[in-house]
Amino acid sequence: MANTKHVFAFEDGDGKNKHLLGGKGANLCEMTQIGLNVPPGFVISTAACLDYLAATKLPTGLMDDVQAQMRALEQKTGKGFGDSDNPLLVSVRSGSAMSMPGMMDTILNLGLNAETLQGVICATGDARFGYDAYRRFIQLFGKVALGVPDAAFDKEFDAIKEAAHAKQDVDLSANDLKEVSERFLAVVQNVTGHPFPSDPYQQLEIAIKAVFNSWGGKRAVDYRRQFHITPDMANGTAVNVVTMVFGNRGDDSATGVAFTRNPATGENKLYGEYLVNAQGEDVVAGIRTPKPLDRLKVEMPEMADQLDALRDKLESHYHEVQDFEFTIERGQLYCLQTRNGKMNTVAMVRTSVEMEREGLITKEQALLRIAPDSLEQMLFPRLDPTIKAEAVAQGLPASPGAASGIAVFDADRAEQYGREQGRKVILVREETKPEDIHGFFASEGILTSRGGKTSHAAVVARGMGKPCVAGAEGISVDVNRREARVGLTSFKEGDVITLDGTSGKVYLGAIPTVEPDFTPELNVLLGWADERARLKVMANADTPDDARRARSYGAVGIGLARTERMFNDVERLPIVIEMIVADTPEQRQAALDKLLPLQRRDFRELFEVMSPNPVTIRLLDPPIHEFLPDEHVLERELSELRALAQNARGVTVLAGAMGLLHASESVRHDIDIARRMIDPAVVEDAIGKKEAMLKKVRALYETNPMLGHRGVRLGITFPEIYQMQVRAILEAAAECAKAGIQVKPQIKVPQVCTAEELRKVKTFVDDIHAEVAERYGKPVSFKFGTMIEVVRACMRAESLAEEAEFFSFGTNDLTQATFSFSREDAENKFLPLYNQSGILQDNPFDVLDVKGVGKLMQLAVEWGRSVKPDLHVGICGEHGGHPASIEFCHKANLDYVSCSGPRVPVARLAAAHAALKAGNK
Ligand code: ADP
Ligand code: MG
Ligand code: MG
Repeated sequence: MANTKHVFAFEDGDGKNKHLLGGKGANLCEMTQIGLNVPPGFVISTAACLDYLAATKLPTGLMDDVQAQMRALEQKTGKGFGDSDNPLLVSVRSGSAMSMPGMMDTILNLGLNAETLQGVICATGDARFGYDAYRRFIQLFGKVALGVPDAAFDKEFDAIKEAAHAKQDVDLSANDLKEVSERFLAVVQNVTGHPFPSDPYQQLEIAIKAVFNSWGGKRAVDYRRQFHITPDMANGTAVNVVTMVFGNRGDDSATGVAFTRNPATGENKLYGEYLVNAQGEDVVAGIRTPKPLDRLKVEMPEMADQLDALRDKLESHYHEVQDFEFTIERGQLYCLQTRNGKMNTVAMVRTSVEMEREGLITKEQALLRIAPDSLEQMLFPRLDPTIKAEAVAQGLPASPGAASGIAVFDADRAEQYGREQGRKVILVREETKPEDIHGFFASEGILTSRGGKTSHAAVVARGMGKPCVAGAEGISVDVNRREARVGLTSFKEGDVITLDGTSGKVYLGAIPTVEPDFTPELNVLLGWADERARLKVMANADTPDDARRARSYGAVGIGLARTERMFNDVERLPIVIEMIVADTPEQRQAALDKLLPLQRRDFRELFEVMSPNPVTIRLLDPPIHEFLPDEHVLERELSELRALAQNARGVTVLAGAMGLLHASESVRHDIDIARRMIDPAVVEDAIGKKEAMLKKVRALYETNPMLGHRGVRLGITFPEIYQMQVRAILEAAAECAKAGIQVKPQIKVPQVCTAEELRKVKTFVDDIHAEVAERYGKPVSFKFGTMIEVVRACMRAESLAEEAEFFSFGTNDLTQATFSFSREDAENKFLPLYNQSGILQDNPFDVLDVKGVGKLMQLAVEWGRSVKPDLHVGICGEHGGHPASIEFCHKANLDYVSCSGPRVPVARLAAAHAALKAGNK
C-alpha cells in the first residue's frame, strides 16, 4: 500500500469523503474549492492513521509527502517553515468522520523556535505578541504532544505573575513573557529528559503521531464504546495542517464562532460571538467575555458585511445551517471550520420551512432533515435549556414533559395540596396503585422509585399526558416520615423538586420550564408530510379529551378506543361489578341496562369529536376479575366485620342489661343509638355480601389471566356484555346520524384466534344492527373487524378475512405471544441482560421485532388480502408510534398506524420518511 495517496492539499481533497478526510478536513477542502477564504493547508487521511496504528510507524513516504505539501504552503504564503526572517507557522488539528471529544487538542503556532520567534517579532514589530505566541505553543505542544502536565507550567507561570504583580495574563510585559517561555522550555527538559524540539519538521512529525495516537487513547476509545460509534461510522482520525492566521494582531483583528441561523429559535439571522484581538481558543475558553455578532456591525462594519456574505455562501452551498469558525487578521476574513449546525427541534422545524421557501432545499429535504422522534419535544413543556442544573437522580423517562412542584408522598395529600389548595404538586411514591389515581389528577408529575416503563405510574401518566419519571432507584422513599433520601441529601414533603420525564432526570428545587410550541411551521411541515405519506395516522384514544388532543395533532381517526377505561370510573365500577357477580342472566341484564346509556354517551362523544373520521371501538378485552376487589383486601374486611359482629352482640346484651338496671334515660338513649349503629342484622348482611363477593373473586381466579378468560372468549361466554356494547355503539351512531353528524363506527373484536369466534359475534352484531336500523328509521353503516394479536390469528388470516373488513395488529400482545415473554417479567428480569449481551439487539416491546413478529404480520397481510383484496390493515400497538416500526409498516403495505396522541406528529413525519426512503431506493 506504499503508494496509496495519504496527503491531500485543500485544493485536491474530496469534500464529500468525510470517512477518509474527517469532517473538519473534508469541509476545509470543500470550502477552499468553492472559493472561500480558507488559510492554505492539507489533510493527512484517516487511512494513514489506521496504517500508523497497525504498524506502529508512519506509512513509508508519508513525511516526504508532508514535506512536499509544506513546500507548497511556503509557495502560497511566501513564507518559510523554519525560516528565521519570515517564518511560516501552522496549526495541527485532529478530526474524524464524526466529531467526538477525547481526541487530541489542536496545537497552534507550530514552527516556533528561538530563531523563527525573532522572525515573527521582526515581521510584526510586536515582541509581546511573539513571546505570547511562543509560550502558548510550548505549553500546548508540551502538554498534548509530549505529555507534560499543565500543573508544571502553571506553577512557573503563577510565580512570574506574582513577581510582576500582574493580576491577569494581559498585564504581563514582553519581558515577563520571554521569561515565561524560557522557564517553560526548562519545564519540558526536566519532565521529559529531552530538550524541547526546536526543529519545525521534528515538531510537525511528533504532532502528527500524537494526533494519530489519540485515536487509540483511552478517552477516545471509551467515548466510542459509550456512544456505539462503530468503524463504519468513523474509523481513524485525519490530521489537518493549516497555515496560522492571527486574530490577535491588534484591534483590527478578531476571532469568533457563528451559526448561520439562530440554533435556539431558527431565526434567519447570523448568530454568534467574537473577541477582538484574540486567538482561536479564547472565545470558547471563556477568559474574556465575547461580544454578540451584532456588535461587529458597529466595530468593524466592513467585516460584518463580509461575514454576511460568507454566511450566504455557506448556506447556499451546503443547503444546511452551518456552525462555523472565523478569524479576522488585519481586515482579512478567514473561515477556519464549518459543519452542520446542531439545533433544537423548534429551530429545525422553522429552518426547514424557511429554507424551503427560500429555495435552498426541497420539501423532501425539509422533511428528511428532521428526526421524527424529536417532534415529541414540541408537544410538552421542557426544561429551559439555558438553565444549567445538576440532576440528583436518574430514572426511566416514562412519560415526557417537565414539571416542578412540591413533593408529596401520598395521593390524599396530593389531592389536598393540589386540588384544594391549588398548589403545584409532584406525587412521589415507591410505586403507584390504582387507588392512587386521584393523586395523579391533582399532580403536575409523578415520580416513583420502583417500576419500569410499563408500571402503573408510567402507563397512567402517559395516558393523562403528565410527566413521569419511574424507577428512580437512587431515591429511597420513606412514606411515614414524608421524606425521600437521594444520596447524601434528601427532600421532605413541601420541598420543591423538578422532573424531566423526557430524560428521566430529577432535580432539587424549581427549574423553569418552557411551554410546548406547536408552531405554525410545524403545521406546514406536517402538511407536506401528509402529502407524501401513504400510511394514514390514527390515534389510540379512549376519552373525548384524548380524541380531541389527538385530532389537534392531526390524527385522521381513532384506531383503538379501549372500552375498559370507560368501565373504570367511580360511578360505573359498582354497576360493572354488579354485572360480573350476577347470578342469573336477569340480574346481569339489569346491570347492563344501566351501563348501556352510559356507554352510548361515551361513544357518541367520541364520534362527535372525530366526525367524519372513523372511530374504531374495541369490545371489552381485559379479564373481568380486573374490575373486582382484591381478594386479600376482601379477606381483611371480612375479618374486621366478624369482629364487629361480636361487638354488636355485646352491645345488644349490654343494652338489655342497662334496661333491666333502670339506667338513666340519657344513658339508655346513647345505648340505643349504639345498638342501632351496630345493628347485628346489618352487620350480618354485610358479612353475607362480602362472603359472596369473596366466593366470586375466588371462583374467577385465574392462574394466568392474560392467557385466560378475556377478549372474545368473554364475549362468547357472556354474550350479553358484547351485545350491550355493540348496541351502545350502533345506537350512538344512529343518534349522530339523526343529528346530521357524519360517523364511521368500526367494531373491533379482541383476542380472536379462529373465524368461528368472529362469526358468533357477527351474528348478534347483525341482529342488533337490523333492530337499531328499524328503530331509528335508517341503517347506519359500520365496519366489522378483528384485532390480530394471537399467533394463530396470523396463521388463519385467510379465514378471518372472510369475516373481517379490517385487521388491526395489536403488536404488544402479538409480541408477547410470539416470544412467549410476559412483558412485565421480561423487562424486569432478563431482557436487560439479553440486550447487554447482544442475545437480542433491542427490546421487542420498544422496537418492533421485524424478523419474527414482522414476518407473522407480513404473512397475515398477504393471506388476508388474498381473500379480500381491499382488506384494510393497520397497527395499534405501541409500536405504531415508533419511526422504525412505521417504516416497516409502510413496507409491509399496511394502510394505517394508530398511536397515542402525542406520537401522532412523530408518526406523520415518520410515515413520510418511510415513503420518501422507499421511493428513493
Ligand atoms: P476544535 O475541534 O476543538 O474546535 P480546532 O482545530 O477547530 O479545534 O481549533 C481550535 C481553535 O483554534 C479554533 O478556534 C480554531 O478556529 C483555531 N484555529 C485552528 N487552526 C487555526 C489556524 N490555522 N489559524 C488560526 N486559528 C486556528
Ligand atoms: Mg473547531
Ligand atoms: Mg391486546
